Amino acid sequence: TTHLVWLRNDLRVNDNLALHAACRDSDAKVIALYLATPAQWQQHEMSPKQAAFIHASLLQVQRALAERGIELHYQACHAFSDSIDALLQFCAKQQVDQLFYNYQYEVNERQRDAEAEKRLDDAGVICQGFDDSLLLPPGSVQSGDRSMYKVFTPFSKAFVRRLQQGLPECVPAPKAREGAPLKATPIPAFDYPTEDFDQDLFPPGEAAALKRLRHFATQPVIDYPAKRDLPALDATSRLSVYLATGVLSPRQCLHRVLHEHPDALDNSRAFTWLNELIWREFYRHLLVAWPALCRHKPFIDWTRNVEWQRNDAHFDAWKAGKTGYPIVDAAMRQMKALGWMHNRLRMITASFLVKDLLIDWREGERYFMQQLIDGDLAANNGGWQWAASTGTDAAPYFRIFNPTTQGERFDEKGDFIRHYLPELAGVPDSDIHQPHVWAEKHHKKLDYPAPIVDHKVARKKTLDAFERAKSAA
Ligand code: FAD
Repeated sequence: TTHLVWLRNDLRVNDNLALHAACRDSDAKVIALYLATPAQWQQHEMSPKQAAFIHASLLQVQRALAERGIELHYQACHAFSDSIDALLQFCAKQQVDQLFYNYQYEVNERQRDAEAEKRLDDAGVICQGFDDSLLLPPGSVQSGDRSMYKVFTPFSKAFVRRLQQGLPECVPAPKAREGAPLKATPIPAFDYPTEDFDQDLFPPGEAAALKRLRHFATQPVIDYPAKRDLPALDATSRLSVYLATGVLSPRQCLHRVLHEHPDALDNSRAFTWLNELIWREFYRHLLVAWPALCRHKPFIDWTRNVEWQRNDAHFDAWKAGKTGYPIVDAAMRQMKALGWMHNRLRMITASFLVKDLLIDWREGERYFMQQLIDGDLAANNGGWQWAASTGTDAAPYFRIFNPTTQGERFDEKGDFIRHYLPELAGVPDSDIHQPHVWAEKHHKKLDYPAPIVDHKVARKKTLDAFERAKSAA
């Protein structure tokens, strides 16, 4: 018998549920397949950095599979619809009896999988899917009335209770099969724009991800609650790209933290970080309960009446990191440079676009996807809807971040700001959050813009726009 593992967003050999299941029968021939879908990636706004990271990770997983005697086949298709035809032809050619794959939860992906399963079933291929990219499957953590939680805290509490009743186990990488090792045939470049990424910050591959996780799970996870909001420090795990592309699983994260801190689920300091993994689960479970989120519909219906402004000059200034608000600009330039932005800064910059510039949050959501190496529909949509006050358990619309105060609180001396805005190197610490005021007072000329909007005025305008929308509903 021939078993096929269809690799997608699960580019690893350790703790890969589909791969593990495919290898259980030691007599079966096991092969793997990756289908590139650049036209679909374009539609989903995948960033060139993420495409480059996926390609590099694919080479690594191919080598790890080859060492175990499993050949990874590669085929370039266009969109998901073409990939279904390619999959069927491949199965026929290789006489595949059983297909193993890990679920994805976005609507297009789910439609593709449903269609593929139907056609493979007609062709006599048995399909098995696995909830691999989550700690607990969507729909398994529900409120008393058997519906998905709309608020995070009770979801998280119920989630922890479920984990305390029984942990999802990690499965090992498959053992080498007969005929191992194989030679890996080179995978061609994707027919998709790619862009170099910082290999020191995001070294591709499982070994690098596990090394970073092992380190983070020691002391840094304990220091996380105190330092996580300070972007000048390297105090968060920086594992998002591995989790978003499936080079690492959340089960590996959970078990590693519990290995170092056995009381991590019991309200210990290590729990704060695990709770972030639960946010990740929350947004993915939400996508399944409300698939309209994948189509960028706001969760709170009346917010669709907000009259957003079109202002290309403002939008361009935000993208370029030239708004005149140093913390916003440094953050936007961090994203451009690294394809990654610190979480506190994602909140600040998203809030600025929506609440200071009154630009439609979907414009920002799209731009983030185009830039982020860790772009992930569920987390990105969740984050944007939170910041825009359109989402479930979002910031209420009348709570509006003041970008200057946020900078003062989280980058007090401007260490982070100066790193990305060298033009402010000469501005003293005490003035770094309002450099134009300092420049005016001291008759200095700065190569840095004055604020493009007055926060107080913008705040009032946004409150009015939300209130009008609410009363129109
Ligand atoms: P850590 O603080 O070490 O957290 C550990 C892991 O938990 C992360 O790697 C991530 O997988 C998960 N996580 C943490 N915070 C969140 C959160 N709020 N929601 C969901 N998962 C979370 N995260 C993405 O992975 N992809 C995105 O496209 C994305 N877009 C965002 C957009 C906005 C507007 C906001 C406010 C947040 C977004 N996030 C996104 C969530 C968060 O900012 C990043 O996961 C985090 O900054 C990644 O850095 P880290 O790995 O060091 O995180």
